[in-house]
Amino acid sequence: MPDFPASLIEFQRRFADDDACAAWLFAARWPFGFRCPACGHAKAWAHGGKSFTYECAACGKQTSVTAGTLLHGSKLPLIVWFWAAYLMATHSNGISALQLQKQLGLGSYKSAWLLCAKLRRAMVAPGRTRLAGLVEVDETEIPLRTKADPVAGGGGRSSQGKMFVAAAVEVENDAPGRVRLAAIKDFSAASLHGFVAANIAPGATIKTDGWPSYPGAPGVRHDPHVIGNMAAHVVLPWAHRVFSNAKTWALGVYHGLRRKHLQSYLDEFVFRFNRRRARHPAFRSLFAIALVGKPLTYKTLIEPEPRG
Ligand SMILES: [Zn+2]
Repeated sequence: MPDFPASLIEFQRRFADDDACAAWLFAARWPFGFRCPACGHAKAWAHGGKSFTYECAACGKQTSVTAGTLLHGSKLPLIVWFWAAYLMATHSNGISALQLQKQLGLGSYKSAWLLCAKLRRAMVAPGRTRLAGLVEVDETEIPLRTKADPVAGGGGRSSQGKMFVAAAVEVENDAPGRVRLAAIKDFSAASLHGFVAANIAPGATIKTDGWPSYPGAPGVRHDPHVIGNMAAHVVLPWAHRVFSNAKTWALGVYHGLRRKHLQSYLDEFVFRFNRRRARHPAFRSLFAIALVGKPLTYKTLIEPEPRG
């Protein structure tokens, strides 16, 4: 990936228009020069009529800098994508679709929401490795926001129903390392064993509060700390810190989370948490994932997400 500005002013200078954004995307996609996705030929002409589109000199296929990526087919100017990714990746709390719509002067809440939803899909690196070593594992309930609750928060919040979330936090030298959060169906052994298998490498040791669903999780050593009525944060301080930060963030930025898109929002929290010491490079990783990501339809984005 090409390098990336380390401050807001540098960002503004460097990505002043769509041409500058397209040049950066070109360099990120084809670091060794253009390659036709159809025939592999290296020579192409800039297309006269279509912006940021190249026509293969051998087979004639037209390829835009965003073709086949998460940005595929978007009607939004590239500069809007860049600003949105920058704000989402580098702000310590991220930014809601409503705030983004206002900040970037977008025509509708829907297009702001779709932009955020697509960027959120670029927050899980394909093939990321599972957590290893000593890993705190815990589960919690969070209140769900219903469709009737207003986008901007305020009164009328119904608190019917809860959603279930599992967390895993690597612990190295008494400090938190990488984190994973997942929406789960319930606190059963099947759900929690599934979470452990998907997120924790074989051979790791999981430290839990002794909840009876954890024993027998395949491939890992189990270190239960049965705490009875004692405060659980004493035993699993980092998992509790992560839950508490995630809940505060969800209320502060989103006025609560909806069941339908819970996993995407958890992924956003984890993306930012895991890059908390390197916010500016976070933009680069967001685009690195977006460029290998597959185009997403509106229908895919609004469908309810599966829970483990
Ligand atoms: Zn070609």
